[in-house]
Amino acid sequence: MEIEGIPKTDNIYKKFISILLLMFSLTVISIVCLVLIVRGRNEYFYKSIFAIIITILFGTGLLLLGTIFIGVLLWHEHSVSKTFRRLLGLSFTMIYPGMLFLGKLFKYDKNSIRSIFIELNNRLVSIDEYSIKGNDILVLIPHCIQKSFCPHRITTNIENCKRCGKCSIDSLIKLKEEFGVNIRVVTGGTLARKVIEDLKPKAIVAIACERDLAGGLYEVRDLPVIAITNKRPEGPCLNTTVDINEVRAAIKHFLYKE
Ligand code: SF4
Repeated sequence: MEIEGIPKTDNIYKKFISILLLMFSLTVISIVCLVLIVRGRNEYFYKSIFAIIITILFGTGLLLLGTIFIGVLLWHEHSVSKTFRRLLGLSFTMIYPGMLFLGKLFKYDKNSIRSIFIELNNRLVSIDEYSIKGNDILVLIPHCIQKSFCPHRITTNIENCKRCGKCSIDSLIKLKEEFGVNIRVVTGGTLARKVIEDLKPKAIVAIACERDLAGGLYEVRDLPVIAITNKRPEGPCLNTTVDINEVRAAIKHFLYKE
């Protein structure tokens, strides 16, 4: 099931599976090489070290196979059991840094690798149904969405916005009024964590760049999060915007249904 209003990007899935297959092939090659090396050796010390390394590589291989399987399930919009969700959480922790490293090696754009995890997360959340009250939903907005010339301090209180309509803040406040959700403008991960701790939301709609979203998803595992990438027509961190229809669709996906 797709969240109506939030576009799917299937090419990201193909890239995801291809990187995982590459990682799996490298793991198998490493196992074969190690077995060939250890065959001619009788020393107990070498055999124990190799046994430990091969066990780790086997574990990694199984995790990669499991992740590929879950990726294919999500690609074809099948539901995913709790066990597979846990496995996916584990692979986020263990595979994401490896994917970033491989991506660097093969000159993949870092943001496209981050987008894979954002998309995977959104697909998982889109499969589930929610019925959450507006004031238990938190919308996190990066401060770069405010026009750089605007003198009003909306990070302390979004209501300080004078609603001139020159940036997306005005439309986001309209969503707050329409659905009763909590909206906070944050200057980074530390403030975002503090807001989550203080408000204790049951679901989050997070708007940010790929780097901040992937980092945030990596940290927040216990809450459903729909991650929306901002648009950066003037480059990173300056006068960014967001598709309000995507934010509206995300809120409605979580919202209490009568
Ligand atoms: S809508 Fe206008 S007043 Fe409000 S934050 Fe944006 S630029 Fe400032």
